[in-house]
Amino acid sequence: MISVVIPALNEGRFIADCLESLKNQDYQGEYEIIVADNGSTDNTASIARSYGVKVVLCLEKMSVSYARQVGADTARGDIIAQADADTVYPHDWLTKIADHFSSHPDAVAVTGRFLYKDPPSWAKFEYFLRNSTNRLTAALFGRPLLVSGATFAFRRSAFLDVDGYCNVSYSPDQLGISGRLSKAGKVYYDRDLYVLTSSRSVKKPLLLCIMEAVVHISHWGGYMCRAYINSFEEFANKTTLRRIALRASPAAVLIILLAYGYFIPTSPVFGKVYYKGTEPGKVVALTFDDGPNEPYTSELLDILDEYNVKATFFVVGENVELYPETAKRIVAEGHVLGNHSYSHNANHALTEYGAKDLVLAEKAIYDTVGVKPHLYRPPHGKKTPWELEEVREQGMIEVTWSVSTGELNTKSSVKVADRIVDETHRGEIILLHDGYGTSHNCSQADKSLTVEALPLIIEKLRAEGYRFVTVPELLDVTPYNN
Ligand SMILES: [Zn+2]
Repeated sequence: MISVVIPALNEGRFIADCLESLKNQDYQGEYEIIVADNGSTDNTASIARSYGVKVVLCLEKMSVSYARQVGADTARGDIIAQADADTVYPHDWLTKIADHFSSHPDAVAVTGRFLYKDPPSWAKFEYFLRNSTNRLTAALFGRPLLVSGATFAFRRSAFLDVDGYCNVSYSPDQLGISGRLSKAGKVYYDRDLYVLTSSRSVKKPLLLCIMEAVVHISHWGGYMCRAYINSFEEFANKTTLRRIALRASPAAVLIILLAYGYFIPTSPVFGKVYYKGTEPGKVVALTFDDGPNEPYTSELLDILDEYNVKATFFVVGENVELYPETAKRIVAEGHVLGNHSYSHNANHALTEYGAKDLVLAEKAIYDTVGVKPHLYRPPHGKKTPWELEEVREQGMIEVTWSVSTGELNTKSSVKVADRIVDETHRGEIILLHDGYGTSHNCSQADKSLTVEALPLIIEKLRAEGYRFVTVPELLDVTPYNN
């Protein structure tokens, strides 16, 4: 059985929609709805009663956590689901909660996310920040940091084990209860468990929002201070330096680790990235990014043809649509096409919407050339966990590089070629550019230097005994998906 607990104080304007949505759940099991009325002077209680739900009065203290506690004390369910009166629940909300607990025996709690019913212009930014914070903290610390009071469910047994809400007056749902529950088991974050909440808390004059944020932050600071004072006593026998190091070093390590994962093309922090082959032979793979970009891509193809070298072209979706014949020629002449996003946004990997860009590119490439690349190279080699997840979901692999030439920083084709030859060892993937993002016909998109350098690179590497292969040959993977 699930008990849904809704704390309410003068929610007459909202509560009918909330109860209507909770009454219309498709959940097949038993559930009860409890409204914990924290002293409403409007018709909140009478509306709630008209829906036939249990109404409990809690007048001792005016506090959301107190109302939630009284509601939870009344609850009979094995699972208690926290809800908010100004929120509307999708018809499968309870089913998803029940499924989550039955498929995750180690779960003590699960939270989801809220979307605004009437979103302000910056809502997507907030969703993104919340979602990425939760995914990151769930992956790193085993529990999401930002728990929404409007969609949070826990096992009653675990709740009783940790002494309930413990009278924490500020954000019991966020810092208090989820933190203590996580000691009893796993707190999950499920982004599919979403609800639609009123934007009343944010649809106010900007100054008021800022003032409220300041008040919230100072409350939060107070809460953290108390936690620090408690732990200060625990660490009182340690030296000041050790205490500081103890606090600061995990944060510093975390920041360095995240930056390393995001910026460094070869870093495996967020998942598997291919940047080099492991073949023992003296082979290398030439790769060209950001094309097609004419006339340079065609000139490079002519040179590769002349030397009978096969290469890998990581093309940009928009450019494929602009130069469809060149894209077709790349495949027709035995080279491999890889996906290098649709719009080549520099920080594409930061937002989960941005990661979808690679699907657009796949469509553009398939519609033009009739192949679905198996290789994906993120713009600038920047990676995030959800971008890598999208790559996996699309059946692709993430390929970066191990030798980069800095072609943009020099005007000498000889220097470019020399640097590559100096840095190249067995199995390396060499990065070159036949384009510049989605720009064309400008000085940065002028790739005549790469065109000049290519014969030198091929000749010098061949002289050292290297053989050229495509990236799929180097990694022993398929070039295209079915
Ligand atoms: Zn690029």
